[in-house]
Amino acid sequence: MPSQSGKVAVVTGANSGIGYETALQLARKGAHVVLACRSESRGKHAAYELKQQLAIENATGSVEFMQLDLSDLSSVQTFSDTFKRAHDRLDLLVNNAGVMGGSYELSADGYERQFATNHLGHFALTAQLFEVIKKSAPARIVNVSSFLHRQAGLTFNEDKVMAPDKKSYAQWSNYTHTKLYNILFTMELHRRVRAKGMEGIAVVACHPGYTASNLVTAPGASNSSLFWKLFFKLAKILPQQSTQMGALPTLYAATGEAVVSGDFFGPEGLGTIFGYPRLETPSKLSQSTTAAWKLWESSEKLAQMEFSV
Ligand code: NAP
Repeated sequence: MPSQSGKVAVVTGANSGIGYETALQLARKGAHVVLACRSESRGKHAAYELKQQLAIENATGSVEFMQLDLSDLSSVQTFSDTFKRAHDRLDLLVNNAGVMGGSYELSADGYERQFATNHLGHFALTAQLFEVIKKSAPARIVNVSSFLHRQAGLTFNEDKVMAPDKKSYAQWSNYTHTKLYNILFTMELHRRVRAKGMEGIAVVACHPGYTASNLVTAPGASNSSLFWKLFFKLAKILPQQSTQMGALPTLYAATGEAVVSGDFFGPEGLGTIFGYPRLETPSKLSQSTTAAWKLWESSEKLAQMEFSV
């Protein structure tokens, strides 16, 4: 990884799993990393551990905790305002935080929890930080998706690009939809940036393969389905990559010198689940300009904001 000295990065969900590892490696290379976490205690604890580690290594980078609950649009607004008051540049935004599965629950704004956290909160966050990202070019936005975005094609309906209601909610397929949205959003933002002729802003997506983390046992998640509870328990005992390996596609997308806007990276090994990062072609559906445009329109409506590029 090239030196990140002088750069400011925001990593969402940086207190755990892939986000924690991403923050650590960026700070090791000299970046100042803002740990954007929903829980004050978990975020502060991660900041403490990262600072200890960086001090042991005499690393030049630094970290700072800032509270952000992506499932609450008012928290996204507060975070963006606080960040902009404290920093006048943002070289790297890593939209990493995520939740997977669980019972149907509504966010603070009344949208389904996985949709609100994995997609809508990141859409609003990127929109609110976009001006400062633009000013800091060359800058990057990295969206963390999943290999499961490929399964979304089985149940995805282009005419219903929105938060699911209780009746149509299915925890697995809804997760795959949100991970498809991460790539649709990446590609649409990439096209809009390019259409405006903006130089130096790269919008990139990636996925970590199958990585040992807290994803299916996240604090606060409830699951009333015995089938899915058992499924997720069994999934935990299958072979998984370490978080160090799982963070590599994110880190490569964030810092690799050969990366260009619109790229998608994932592990090179077996079923794109294990191994070192390589350039990958996302599913055909994730390249649909119609679906991406509809997602952008719905997201602006649901977040009650305009994302002007
Ligand atoms: P993880 O260890 O559970 O990390 C997820 C992070 O997101 C945690 O810090 C969590 O905070 C945070 N988060 C959840 N809801 C949030 C909210 N409302 N606001 C702000 N932060 C929130 O899982 P991970 O595997 O590292 O997940 C990172 C990303 O990788 C996710 O986008 C996931 O979809 C993607 N991914 C993972 C895998 C895998 O195999 N692990 C595979 C494909 C894709 P708390 O600690 O407070 O819960």
